[in-house]
Amino acid sequence: MIRPSALQLARHCDLSHVLAERYPSRNEATDRGNTVDGQATAELNGGLQATDVDAKAIVAWVRENFDDCDLRFQVPTELYDEDSGGLITRGTADMVAHTCTDLTVVDFKKREQMLAGRLAGPDDNDQTHAYAIAEATRLGVVSYRTCLLLFGDGEVEPLWSHSYTRGDWMTIYARIRDVNINQADNPKGTSGPHCMRCYSRVHCPHWALPAHQNPSELAALTANGQLTIDNAGRALMAVLALEEIAAQAKVRLRAFAESTGGSIIYGDRQWRRTLMPGRSSIDSAALKRDGLAEKYTRKGAPFEQWRWSKAK
Ligand code: SF4
Repeated sequence: MIRPSALQLARHCDLSHVLAERYPSRNEATDRGNTVDGQATAELNGGLQATDVDAKAIVAWVRENFDDCDLRFQVPTELYDEDSGGLITRGTADMVAHTCTDLTVVDFKKREQMLAGRLAGPDDNDQTHAYAIAEATRLGVVSYRTCLLLFGDGEVEPLWSHSYTRGDWMTIYARIRDVNINQADNPKGTSGPHCMRCYSRVHCPHWALPAHQNPSELAALTANGQLTIDNAGRALMAVLALEEIAAQAKVRLRAFAESTGGSIIYGDRQWRRTLMPGRSSIDSAALKRDGLAEKYTRKGAPFEQWRWSKAK
């Protein structure tokens, strides 16, 4: 079974969800998302008041837009095969709003995920479609909409899908079912631009190995190499893979050094942890508290940054 959150990538690559199960990713961004979801859900369920600015913004938006619906949060959903009755996928929707005829499924998402091009838009998002089709079928409603509620910096922005009736959603249902049914016994993986949305990529040979094994991708970057519109994307992916592999390799080397006496010795050199003097910094919280922040804060000029976003 492929979890709803992994369906989008599974459309392009049969290895991605296998690696996601094997190497579940947890980082600061995941923790941040869980905190916001948890606080917003707790308050909306009548529990503790949210303190996080993004959670407060979500709560305010929900109260403003859904005051006449049956609302449920953190809703377990299960989508079944209409022919065989077998389970296709199972997951938890952040919020389901339900009237007699209509259903809305809302997923709370960090805005930076969308800015970085890691999220499919609401009409192309198989995760939220899977939740919505499962609930619409179970409740017997005639239409649904989905919404990605982007949060960040204490603000929310809803991205709405079209309204889907059963005739529309059967095509999406069939796609989700087929991805699940047609899972390969021995998934090989298919690389491409979608790899940038794959949280397991540092564990994937298609991502990690070409960076140093496939000379054709890096050859374009040598002094005499020829960068073209066609090969620049793959060359860039190879460089990003090298950076990520190097970062992960250093973490492993540090752990190895710690476990073998505290250093790595190579010839007459040793690589070890060194305690450096702390850097001085301005206590901006104190400046704010004393009402001096505005006086002593100089706004920096805008600067350029190279980053991923959705292609236009
Ligand atoms: S990095 Fe790319 S090829 Fe590898 S598992 Fe992820 S999506 Fe598939």
